[in-house]
Amino acid sequence: MIAVPALLALLTLAPQADPPPEATRIMAEALRGESSRILADLTDGVGARLAGSPGADAAVRWAVDWFRAQGIPVRAEPVLVTHWIRGEERAEVVARKGGRPQPLTVTALGMSAPTPPGGVAGEVLEVRSLEELSALGAKVKGRIVLFQHDMKDTSGYGRFAGLRMRGPAAAARQGAVAALVRSLSTATLRIAHTGMTLFPPGEKAIPAAALSVEDAELLHRLLARGPVTVRLFLGGHLADPPLAPSANVVAEILGSEKPEEVVVIGAHLDSWDLGTGAIDDGAGVAMVLDTMRIAASMPRPPRRTLRAVLFMNEENGGEGAVAYHEASLAAGTRHVAAMEADAGAGRPTGVDVTAGQGGMEAVRAMAAPLDVLGASRVGAGGGGVDISPLAYAGVPLLSLAQETSRYFDWHHSAADTFDKVDPRALAEATAAFAWMAWALADSPVPLPPAPIPSTPPWWKRAAP
Ligand code: ZN
Ligand code: ZN
Repeated sequence: MIAVPALLALLTLAPQADPPPEATRIMAEALRGESSRILADLTDGVGARLAGSPGADAAVRWAVDWFRAQGIPVRAEPVLVTHWIRGEERAEVVARKGGRPQPLTVTALGMSAPTPPGGVAGEVLEVRSLEELSALGAKVKGRIVLFQHDMKDTSGYGRFAGLRMRGPAAAARQGAVAALVRSLSTATLRIAHTGMTLFPPGEKAIPAAALSVEDAELLHRLLARGPVTVRLFLGGHLADPPLAPSANVVAEILGSEKPEEVVVIGAHLDSWDLGTGAIDDGAGVAMVLDTMRIAASMPRPPRRTLRAVLFMNEENGGEGAVAYHEASLAAGTRHVAAMEADAGAGRPTGVDVTAGQGGMEAVRAMAAPLDVLGASRVGAGGGGVDISPLAYAGVPLLSLAQETSRYFDWHHSAADTFDKVDPRALAEATAAFAWMAWALADSPVPLPPAPIPSTPPWWKRAAP
């Protein structure tokens, strides 16, 4: 605690330094709001972009054309991606003694197996954790497992996403005929929120669906009265062949002094297929593209190379992230930092960083001009799924912290559409992102390398 007079004296003695003129220029340019025009073009013009689908192919062409129109060198780097196709999806509570059949709102999880032609029926078994499931042993055989939870806010996603990612495979191992996962959602409008579930290679996949919050509550109440049987029809299946050709889109502005040192800014171009991927991750794509447009409009390039990477299939396989990492290892690319935008379109609140000793302080100095946006707070733990493989090369990872209180109302659902985006908030997030990208690429000294993670690379370890 510092006394008020002492604080005033400090402020008088050390007035806030004027922000560098580049910061003022870059942020003013972003605040003109081109980001939301880019986002409208992607979401309304291209639409849904599930990896392997015609929409994802169209998005790759759209992004390449966009960079070409800006005069920024661009290439599509081929990558094979998991190609899963959604089909029919419906479910009902089968008539019970004294009750009537009731429809349930469901949507298949990515990588779900299809049900047989007549659907699959089973008595529902409700669990709240993987441990509870495991303890039920052979009782799971022939049942439909319902993964119940009580996600209430944004922090609940981290706590409960494991039920969606690993629950269905665990249920399959114990003989379940299908799995239902309560939607990872902070809203209740009887819609279902999809997302990937993992079936380890060589293990049997079962039909797996997300259930609306209301219907998860309904099943919970019905189970309190007695046994409940659900019938499920899911057509979602892996394509034949299961891998489809696609691409990461890579564009760059060569550095003026150290072009061999690369700062990556990334977002994922694919989206789920239910909505149009406006907040996940069209907003991130728009932030990255507008950052490149602004950087290219500066009187001089930054000292280091600024490279935009639009990753393919963050949502349902992560192949784009792995392909980019492996290609850069083979090419001996010297990444000095990577920053990812995959947290929606909310206003910026700060910058998170994972770097070596002294990294936080260096980023704090860079982030000082973000004070005008209320976003100069610097925290630990920067990163993102698509840039996470670079951690194994010691690359400092950053991400913008954003306001996310409504993010999981719409995430991975049919409601993830452009109208959820506040253009002013997106412009402010873009301003913060663009300035940080420039500061990283133009800084006289790169950030200290980050310690190599002690956990094994996620793309090499078998899923549990
Ligand atoms: Zn995302
Ligand atoms: Zn997502």
